[in-house]
Amino acid sequence: MKLLEERIAKDGKVLGNEILKVDSFLNHQIDPSMMKAMGKEFAKLFAEDGITRILTIEASGIAVAMMTALEMNLPMVFAKKSKSRNIGDDVFSAPVHSFTYDRDYIITVSRDYLSENDRVLLIDDFLANGEALRGLISLCSQAGATIGGIGICVEKGFQRGGKQIREMGYHVESLAIVDAMDENGITFREQ
Ligand code: 5GP
Repeated sequence: MKLLEERIAKDGKVLGNEILKVDSFLNHQIDPSMMKAMGKEFAKLFAEDGITRILTIEASGIAVAMMTALEMNLPMVFAKKSKSRNIGDDVFSAPVHSFTYDRDYIITVSRDYLSENDRVLLIDDFLANGEALRGLISLCSQAGATIGGIGICVEKGFQRGGKQIREMGYHVESLAIVDAMDENGITFREQ
């Protein structure tokens, strides 16, 4: 998606060799018009996949998942990263290793919002090693839900997640794939 690549090239900051910081429009301050454009793109890419529900993970997946859900006229659920008392114990849960924080946490979704009748579109902001997606896939499998597709804003193609998740047979669409990055610039994969 040209618009996203241009925005990353203009505003993205590369930290070390592995972290791309896009705090000015995706991960801290949020640009609603960019979220809307990405939501429209995901809605187009997954229009034929029979999706019934969108699932993401808090916090940075929520904005783009919300815009996708609005475009597709579907409910959107986000997995919680900490167990709050108000969703109770009737939950699906899975461990996830956080790439950015380098620690493990448990994600949960209430059994009220994921079931065997669902065909789910997973949405997330970044794909690195695929840990967050594996957690979301586990929640869906516990619920007996099928996965109709996976939509990612920024995939870091030099990390292993994208290849592994595609090898598992899922339909993955990434709006921008970064093949290399350093302080001199960012190289995007031709798609
Ligand atoms: P994974 O679980 O695929 O290893 O990493 C993806 C998750 O880690 C995403 O949910 C995202 O929040 C975070 N993440 C991974 N790499 C980056 C990065 O380069 N920049 C930012 N902002 N977040 C990242």
